[in-house]
This record gives sequence, structure tokens and C-alpha cells, in this order.
Amino acid sequence: MKQRIVAGNWKMNKTSNEGPSFLEEILNLLLDIERTQVIFCPPFTGIPGLNKIIKGERFSLGAQNCHWENEGAFTGEISPHMLSAIGVEFVIIGHSERRHIFGETNEMINRKINAVLSGGMKPIFCIGETLQERKNLETEKILVRQLEEGLSKVESLEDIILAYEPVWAIGTGENAYPQQLEQANAIIRTWVRHNYGNNMEGNIQILYGGSVKEDNATDLIKTEGVDGFLIGGASIDAQSFSSIIHQVENLN
Ligand code: PEP
Repeated sequence: MKQRIVAGNWKMNKTSNEGPSFLEEILNLLLDIERTQVIFCPPFTGIPGLNKIIKGERFSLGAQNCHWENEGAFTGEISPHMLSAIGVEFVIIGHSERRHIFGETNEMINRKINAVLSGGMKPIFCIGETLQERKNLETEKILVRQLEEGLSKVESLEDIILAYEPVWAIGTGENAYPQQLEQANAIIRTWVRHNYGNNMEGNIQILYGGSVKEDNATDLIKTEGVDGFLIGGASIDAQSFSSIIHQVENLN
């Protein structure tokens, strides 16, 4: 069985003083976790402090974004090289808030994915359609375009985690229905098979993200083709986050 993954995207929450005690609170609730990989993605300023606390092969650190160059005149940016130097193993790329609030294009996202891979880290590559695109029956077209353009010049998906995050479900309290999720996963897996072969289709890990909470996690993780979650809001509540991880861990 593929390893399941739960990644917590803290977004712009928790100062460098708040992060360590919050992480310790969560880790104390996760002492029995043996099979699930848990990735904590704090804001950049929180990473060094958490790195000192995190231990055990089940737990890793991720970042929420990075630039595609390793150094240079890019005021306000953080490079892949800087992230790997402070122990980051995963980087969320293409989150819908980066696409829609900060104007990131598929082309920029593609550069970032290639840079993260070159830096020896693993991208968590987010894709997903808006509500309008879904209503226009464009979900397949949008997902395929995001995959094609985002993964241009990427030779293998071995070190990439995909996250299907329908934009209309992020932070809205409205999660995708298992049937909608199955359909999206089938589109993604078919694309992976056509472009990277059967073996990769079998091995690729696809997370779901969008209003995952304690009370919907078990139904969502049971959905065909879902290998884990990318969680925003519920990841900054220790009880909720640990409850979701336990539901994932305890599923056969
Ligand atoms: C996210 O930020 O990736 C996300 C899925 O947020 P939420 O869980 O709050 O919908």
C-alpha cells in the first residue's frame, strides 16, 4: 500500500514564537502515528524554529512557496537553495491563493517545480478548477492544462506529490463530494498514465485539499484514488489536525 500523506498548510498564521509550542502540542497528540507521513508547512519565518523540534521519520517540514532562481535580485523572495539549507523537504507549489491572489501562471509554477526538484526537494503541486470553470464544464480542460504546463520538462513524477484542490472548496467550508473527487482523480490519473506510463499512474500520490475537517475526513480519505490530504484551516487547530491524521492512519 502507498504511504498516506497529510500536509498542513499554516498559510500566514503563527509567529516564530507561537510555532514551536503549537508544533509540540500537535506532536504530543501524534505519538502513536506509525504509517502516515505528516508534513508541516509553516510560514518561512517559522521554519528554523520548528526544525529544532521536529523528529522522527514520519514528520517533515515543508514550505508554502519559493522562487525559481537560487539567488539574485529578486526582492522579497526566498530561493529553493535557502529552503533546503534549513531542512525543508517539501514545497507547496501552485497553491490557488498564489495563482489567484498573486497572479502566478502555469509557466511560473513550472519553473518553480523544476527548481524545487533540482534543489533536491519534493514539490506538492496544487491544481484545481474555479467554481465558474466547473459550472462551464471545463474541469477536465483546466486540470489537463495545469498538468501539461506545470509539468513541462519534468521527466519523472517520482518526487512529485499532486494535490487536487478545487478552488471553490478551499477555506469555504464546502468540500468536494466523493463522486466529484473520484472524477477529478480519474482525469488526473489518466493524464499521468498517458504521459508517464502505467507504473507512474500506480505510484503517484494525489492529495485532496478543500475544507477537510474532522467530520468529513474519513469519508474523503476512503474515496477512490485519494492518498492523503493538504489541509489549511484545520491544520492550525491541534485537536482537529491530529484527529484527521488519526482517521487517515487508522484506515486499512
Ligand atoms: C489549503 O489551503 O490548501 C486548503 C485546502 O485550505 P482549507 O483546508 O482551509 O480549505
